[in-house]
Amino acid sequence: MPRVKKAPDVPTDRLDEMLARLKLSGIRDQLDNLLDEAARSNLSARETLTMLCEREIARKDHRRIEMALKLAHFPAVKELAGFDFEAQPSIDPKQIRDLAASRWIANGENVLLLGPPGVGKTHLAIALGREAILAGYSVQFTTATALVAGLAKAHAEKRLDEKLLGLSKAKLLIVDELGYLPLEPDAAHLFFQLVSRRYETGAMLITSNRSVAEWGTVFADPVVATAILDRLLHHSHVLTIRGDSYRLRAKRKSGLIKVPPAGDGAPVGSASLRPVTGGANLQPRS
Ligand code: ADP
Ligand code: MG
Repeated sequence: MPRVKKAPDVPTDRLDEMLARLKLSGIRDQLDNLLDEAARSNLSARETLTMLCEREIARKDHRRIEMALKLAHFPAVKELAGFDFEAQPSIDPKQIRDLAASRWIANGENVLLLGPPGVGKTHLAIALGREAILAGYSVQFTTATALVAGLAKAHAEKRLDEKLLGLSKAKLLIVDELGYLPLEPDAAHLFFQLVSRRYETGAMLITSNRSVAEWGTVFADPVVATAILDRLLHHSHVLTIRGDSYRLRAKRKSGLIKVPPAGDGAPVGSASLRPVTGGANLQPRS
């Protein structure tokens, strides 16, 4: 077999064009540096190609994650690494780590994070959403109030279907703060339609300061609330967080305020909010 001739120098423009056509912009933008690096390290052709592919994949992953984090509309940056598990003994770190692996999202299951204000529900919701994005899933974060307002507006404008379709796109929909404000009966019905649409296909993570037993009041319609819970709890992980507010705890530690720490079931945070209590009514149906 004749020896393969050394490839002639390829004009940069042509190579740029081909890399652009293959959407290998990471390689294209850094080509000279990457080839210098390969030469300095005496990489073989195969090793060089591997290095180029690795860099391209790393850049694509980075961009995808940046974009997905933007699209998720998280209200703050919160990570699991920043969660102090010792401060909330009612949370099982292992269960959170299991959820962080995002298998529940692949299976279209739901997570309910229940507990009084300040115990880290929103923190965990964002952190689990972030883990889902790192695992390759699309995530959308909204508050219950914004969600219901959006649904009601779409309904009034006769484009509810379109809106529901939009809300079904993300593999994980996070609905924060359900129960802080009571919802209109109309809103409950719209929420039901959303839950039905996503049922068994898209995962939902809902945070609430109300126990599931109180959702009849939250939705101002016990029949619709039962129908919503029936679907949500069918494949679900219900985590009830107890204890006192992390914010107040930090203040109490510094001696700024004098609030007794809350025990299980004791009223916590704002006196106007009834605490979430654990119990049989929180068990998912099978
Ligand atoms: P909730 O949504 O339950 O009302 P948040 O998640 O908003 O509570 O928590 C209130 C604040 O306290 C946030 O800044 C959050 O990051 C912080 N926080 C709550 N619990 C913890 C914790 N266990 N470790 C670290 N930060 C926490
Ligand atoms: Mg919150």
